[in-house]
Amino acid sequence: MKEKEMYHVLLYYNFTPIEDEEAFAAEHLAACKALGLKGRILVSKDGINGTVSGPVSQTDAYIEMMHADERFKDTVFKTDEHDGHAFKKMHVRPREELVTLRLDEDEDTDPNKLTAAYLEPIEFYEAMQDENTVVLDTRNDYEYDVGHFRGAIRPDIRSFRELPEWVKENKELLEGKRVLTYCTGGIRCEKFTGWLIDKGFEDVGQLHGGIVTYGKDPEVQGKLWDGQCYVFDERLTVPINQTEHVIVGRDHFDGTPCERYVNCAEPECNEQFLCSEENEHKYMRGCSHACRVDPRNRYIIEHDLSEEEVARRLRVIEEESLAKSM
Ligand SMILES: [Zn+2]
Repeated sequence: MKEKEMYHVLLYYNFTPIEDEEAFAAEHLAACKALGLKGRILVSKDGINGTVSGPVSQTDAYIEMMHADERFKDTVFKTDEHDGHAFKKMHVRPREELVTLRLDEDEDTDPNKLTAAYLEPIEFYEAMQDENTVVLDTRNDYEYDVGHFRGAIRPDIRSFRELPEWVKENKELLEGKRVLTYCTGGIRCEKFTGWLIDKGFEDVGQLHGGIVTYGKDPEVQGKLWDGQCYVFDERLTVPINQTEHVIVGRDHFDGTPCERYVNCAEPECNEQFLCSEENEHKYMRGCSHACRVDPRNRYIIEHDLSEEEVARRLRVIEEESLAKSM
């Protein structure tokens, strides 16, 4: 029997000039497909940001190809083991901005010229325990909700471009403090901390290599991370803290500890939410009443539920909500 080949998932970025990003994207897509990789890569005039999966021999060949290119020779690749592809398709997309902040020209900063001091995992671990330090999560609310550094500030944002506005409205949380930022792989902080410094925050540091690097560091072993780390591929979450596992995610329906994501069964909605297996069946994987009773509900179709069965399950959950309100 042939041994099953191990797969790797790579995560990387590089702020480096790419002249014709449209032509480069087409070329790069062809190269990735020839290697048998799957994943999502964004390219812009400012650089490249990607995550791809493939058999180890092929991801190794990709790293070699990138490092042979003058523009990408210093790219740092973060590597996870996996038992197969973590994506369904291969995309390389040209973008206006590598990380979308959509700042006006007078507010925009160049990460190659202005970014916060890099803190290695052990430095970050020690610095975040200082009482004059605040730790700011630069990710989205749904990423924070399944895992974050203990005590970190949770910006109430659905996308990265909302972060500058959020900071302007909540600046009293950061003023007079040392501000440490972190994100999944480091790229959002590269961009965002430049903006923070430009806005007058003087003492800013960023976690070098992001959460995924912190989780693999042999010295800190992911300490003070609670929950899981949200990732933008089919794995959805990866573990970080190797010494203890505190669950911070909460079931969408009953608020019990939960780290299991599902997508709403109503195809138009498709909202990702945390939900136990039991509640998935109980609520027919619908995030709301409207999604549950929608004729396109995939759960009802997959399980071939009769009208009577749907009505029975709805009665059960409505009885409960009535009981709760009494
Ligand atoms: Zn829904």
